[in-house]
Amino acid sequence: MSLICVGSMAYDAIETPFGKRDRIVGGAAVYAAYAASNFIKPINLVSIIGNDFEESEIRALEEKGASFEGVERVKDKKSFFWSGKYHLDMNTRDTLVTDLNVLADFKPVIPASFQDSEFLMLGNLHPATQISVIGQMKIRPRLIAMDTMNYWISSAMQDLTTLLGMVDVLMVNDAEARELTGEYSLVKAARKIMQMGPRYLVIKKGEHGALLFHGSQVFFAPALPLEEVFDPTGAGDTFAGGFMGHLARTKDISFENMKTAIIVGSAMASFCVEKFGPERLKEIDKNEIDDRIRQFIDLVNFDIALV
Ligand code: AMP
Repeated sequence: MSLICVGSMAYDAIETPFGKRDRIVGGAAVYAAYAASNFIKPINLVSIIGNDFEESEIRALEEKGASFEGVERVKDKKSFFWSGKYHLDMNTRDTLVTDLNVLADFKPVIPASFQDSEFLMLGNLHPATQISVIGQMKIRPRLIAMDTMNYWISSAMQDLTTLLGMVDVLMVNDAEARELTGEYSLVKAARKIMQMGPRYLVIKKGEHGALLFHGSQVFFAPALPLEEVFDPTGAGDTFAGGFMGHLARTKDISFENMKTAIIVGSAMASFCVEKFGPERLKEIDKNEIDDRIRQFIDLVNFDIALV
């Protein structure tokens, strides 16, 4: 049982009110892989890197169980570079630089050895690129989840509409769900999105948690109130990695188990924001994850008598 993670592998420059890093490894596939590696191996990465991507970063991911067979290495170009600056509330950020570099020519190729993967996570990329990945799978994975962003909603809606008809789970933030549907009410937005294709919808609300929709059912997972949040970069991708990692480990794609998966995703995201980039994700172990999940249980568990 394995998981394919498709997405960017990057170097980021990040500035938050609590510090800055001029160059730190990042990208959706990196965050998702670190998170998922706690639950399932191998993580079949599908991405592209340039000549500046450090061997030590490749080894660190391989040690966690990532396979690089689906990662194209380009000798004469640099890796994708992104730079962002957060404001004091950290819910908003400005993108300062997006240097596509190798990502501009990314045509993902799924290696034959990845064909038996039953879980597919499509990180945020051009929807046509995401479609090409699904088209290469000889047997449709049991569960296909995707992320997207406002940029594709406004510039590639036709491809996005096709893609939405091909996936099982869409993960977006609240602003993206509203933009995709023109609905302010997230319940109405969810209904419209599920009519477009995905049977399951996760709406992430940053420090206010995440909602899971399926048919007429809704489930809510809070975000853990943390004393210190250093850097929210990659929290969404980390959430996705934890969510898919849990589902792949348990091989159970029922709505009930997806509720657990969004708690696991939220727990992983809570680690991500505690240090810059994926630094915290690199160091956590099973005991810390178990402790964190217990904190989630305590956070929402209460006895109440019906009135
Ligand atoms: P998130 O905070 O979940 O939006 O993810 C941040 C990560 O996404 C960073 O590590 C960036 O390298 C990566 N990223 C930012 N913009 C893009 C883009 N246009 N395409 C692919 N990856 C991106």
